[in-house]
Amino acid sequence: MVDRDRQSNGASIRNFGFVTVTGQEAGECWRRARRSRDVWAEVAEAAGIAVVQRGLLMIARRAEARAVLEEFIATEMGRECRLVEPNDIETYGTGLRSESFAAALYSPHEIRVESREAIPRLAAYLAERHDVTFRRETVALSAAPPRLETSRGTLEAETIVVCPGDDFHTLHAERIAAYGLTRCKLHMMRLAPQRFDERLPAIMSDLGMIRYRGYSELPAARTLARRLEAEQGEHIANGVHLIVVRSADNSLIVGDSHHYAATPDPFAPTAVDDLILDEYAHVFAAEAPPIAERWTGTYASAKDRLMLIDKPSDALRIVLITSGTGASTSFAIAEEVVADLFG
Ligand SMILES: Cc1cc2nc3c(=O)[nH]c(=O)nc-3n(C[C@H](O)[C@H](O)[C@H](O)COP(=O)(O)OP(=O)(O)OC[C@H]3O[C@@H](n4cnc5c(N)ncnc54)[C@H](O)[C@@H]3O)c2cc1C
Repeated sequence: MVDRDRQSNGASIRNFGFVTVTGQEAGECWRRARRSRDVWAEVAEAAGIAVVQRGLLMIARRAEARAVLEEFIATEMGRECRLVEPNDIETYGTGLRSESFAAALYSPHEIRVESREAIPRLAAYLAERHDVTFRRETVALSAAPPRLETSRGTLEAETIVVCPGDDFHTLHAERIAAYGLTRCKLHMMRLAPQRFDERLPAIMSDLGMIRYRGYSELPAARTLARRLEAEQGEHIANGVHLIVVRSADNSLIVGDSHHYAATPDPFAPTAVDDLILDEYAHVFAAEAPPIAERWTGTYASAKDRLMLIDKPSDALRIVLITSGTGASTSFAIAEEVVADLFG
């Protein structure tokens, strides 16, 4: 395992640690998310990674959003989920503006880990229990099995899997360029610890139903999208939707936004955070606690695919998640890549 950074510092520690099943695109992505969730559960136990939160409550603030949830529940993906009436939402925890909602969907599938702790633990587990050698602060300069040229010399490698995150230019730039990728910048915040009902699962709301393909590809989502464009045009222009997850100390991670560019700028305008917090205020009853941390993250993005596996030769694979789904699907994708390479 060769990485240019001293410790994991990319998308994998900047995300919500939210392993999302419900809402993923029907078909392969949903299947991979279910499988990855099971691998996460197994690996978390083995590596001593805490599962901090379970499940998802998808809030429908509007009747049009409820219609999307009703359609979703009738699909194969909704089979183990439940449509929750506003007066029943408190069964899942208090502190929401339940009386103003049209409904919610409860999904039992999701788990949440604290990424910034989980990923280093995962690496330590791989090193200690599975003899994986980590070459850190080492740049891979050329990957052509049986050789991997690095900034610290040449390694023998019968098989190489290149997972460059959103670096499209260092390794096999021409092959990656053929996929027409761009990068996406996201705003994230941590709200200071507060009194919080620990029964509450992860929370999302209407804006998420036009981003997450499991919902957005349903017919009712078109009507919802029209209403949201009229009422929350600025949120949509900034790619804002709401995800709120809880940490062990009852601080909340709240996000996010989506801005696309080949080289995203490093700036994080407060106006974008305000749009995220505006949606938070429509969902949570109490005023948002102070912001304890802000950060941005970036990931690879494609218009036409959620991920890609490129096969330049029998012993070489280039694997990128080209959407915000890597925490939820990459264990399954890794299994598929390894199975294809080694049988
Ligand atoms: C803010 C944010 C929120 C997200 N939310 C979610 C979510 O809710 N659910 C979900 O499923 N997914 C989410 N994601 C997406 C998910 O985090 C990513 O899909 C996933 O982490 C990508 O993993 P990766 O290993 O490809 O990239 P990274 O974690 O970025 O790692 C890539 C690594 O490759 C190294 N590298 C690249 N090129 C070289 C080279 N030539 N030599 C040496 N090292 C190199 C980099 O240094 C880096 O360490 C989110 C992402 C972000 C940024």
